[in-house]
Amino acid sequence: MRQRKLSQFTFLLVMTAFLSACDDTIDIYDHRRGDAENYMIAVAHPLAAIAGRDILAQGGSAVDATIAAEMVLTLVEPQSSGIGGGAFLVHHDASKSEFETYDGREMAPASAHPEMFLKDDGTPMDWPGVALGGHAVGVPGLIRMLAMAHAEHGVMAWEDLFQPAIKLAENGFYVTPRLAGLLANDTELRTVPGTREYFYPNGEPLEEGDLLKNPALAKVLRQVASTGPNAFYAGEIAKGIAQAVSNALVNPTPMTPGDLAGYVAKKRPPVCATYRMHRVCGMGPPSSGGILVAQTLGILDHFDLSQYEPFSVEAVHLIIGASQLAFADRNFYVADSDFIPVPVAALVDPNYLAERASHIDPDKAMQNVRPGRPGRSAWNWRASPETEKGLSTTHFSVRDQYGNIASMTASIERAYGSKHMTQGFLLNNQLTDFSFKPTHMGHPVANAAAPQKRPRSTMSPTIVYDADREPVLAIGSPGGSRIAGYTLKAIIGVLDWDMHVADAIATPNIVSGGGPVTLEKDSDAEALKPALEAMGHKVRIRPMTSGLHGIHFHKDHMTGGADPRREGIVLGD
Ligand code: GLU
Repeated sequence: MRQRKLSQFTFLLVMTAFLSACDDTIDIYDHRRGDAENYMIAVAHPLAAIAGRDILAQGGSAVDATIAAEMVLTLVEPQSSGIGGGAFLVHHDASKSEFETYDGREMAPASAHPEMFLKDDGTPMDWPGVALGGHAVGVPGLIRMLAMAHAEHGVMAWEDLFQPAIKLAENGFYVTPRLAGLLANDTELRTVPGTREYFYPNGEPLEEGDLLKNPALAKVLRQVASTGPNAFYAGEIAKGIAQAVSNALVNPTPMTPGDLAGYVAKKRPPVCATYRMHRVCGMGPPSSGGILVAQTLGILDHFDLSQYEPFSVEAVHLIIGASQLAFADRNFYVADSDFIPVPVAALVDPNYLAERASHIDPDKAMQNVRPGRPGRSAWNWRASPETEKGLSTTHFSVRDQYGNIASMTASIERAYGSKHMTQGFLLNNQLTDFSFKPTHMGHPVANAAAPQKRPRSTMSPTIVYDADREPVLAIGSPGGSRIAGYTLKAIIGVLDWDMHVADAIATPNIVSGGGPVTLEKDSDAEALKPALEAMGHKVRIRPMTSGLHGIHFHKDHMTGGADPRREGIVLGD
């Protein structure tokens, strides 16, 4: 079965390489791990890897390759991310030895309000119902953010970075098994005019191996390439987006060209924590990812994981405890810091995390994990509950020949986002990451919706540094609220157990946020269930489709890994 798929997919890639006029023959099973000296990209689709690798080979920077790869992903991995969505990018500038973070998160339009996810009777709307159509579409932030990063770190011309995606959109690319499988299983996408014609020609879902062209997207990319980001945020493209949201077949909701024109990408203060002599740095609010990773590792710093077998029950119990404590804080305190005061420094303060670590009993599960009082502040917020998703979103890691590193997670929220398309690209449903309930027992919820506010994310693009401030690891993942847990697994595998980054990525997923401990279905993790239950954990088993793509930097070379749960590869030189 796998053999059949393998050869078929290899064939597709040869053909794709032919179409995109490059000479690669790529078998994804041979490129799940990689080794390179000069530059590398680890990304969720082989065509994005080829595009990024080619830019790096021409002397492009990590940000240049990121732009080229993400434009290709918009086309070839449309279920996950694209120009109709948002992203967080963290960057290491080798010349200044500086870590920077860029926020391209979607923003609520002016029509948004705290009660927008409540029904007339005051109860929360149904999640899948409201994710469909116009209601949850945020103003896309990806293009503005990439333009900002390019202005600061681009080496090649902006226009050139769009050419691989434009060529593929015009010539076509072959549908992969994952894209075909998600199309076959989706019951809503085929009901939306515009989207239906693209993904279900003649009423049938596209199949693996079908050639798919997207001239409408090619046209948009050409305009953005030649005119710059304003082509997207003003004029015909912006008008088209606003109209698609306002006149959506399902849940039409006002969005105006002014909403698009008003979008601003932002640089945010980095969030870092010390872990075993390393400095782990990530994305601050409106993502909770950096705080979750920093808090969990800061708590685990009080235990010695390396004394245990990798991912043994003793170690897993500690990781779960630390992560549950971090999630309790995140649900309570974290949202868009432009709208509510998030006590970021207090949340990752080593003294506070030492106190949080004291809640963990090495032999027994905690019950009723509650948020702490970082900085002894009394806060008036209430926790917002978590929804579970995770078949969408994409993460990739890049290093260029100059030593710059980009680690970016991009998303349109759930698979195919709002399922509404305009001008060849899908629009996100990212506003469903707001809390549906604006208040809880009379107290405001930090992550309630508001005009121009950005919904809280879990996206965790991360760069780890050693004691000499040299980069060690770039990593991140898709996976909804499990993103931080997947990312932590890989960081711990590399730092505590000296695993090859590809092995740390492939190792079974075990995650706990607010709810029960989730073990990856059909993996070795299932065997931990009885022992964890005996310690008092509630355990369930689920498919867990992480999409980790990381690069580990050694003294004179680098190793990379792509998650075998998706279709990504590692390329470099
Ligand atoms: N919307 C999610 C977030 O920003 C990502 C979605 C996913 O990975 O499925 O945290």
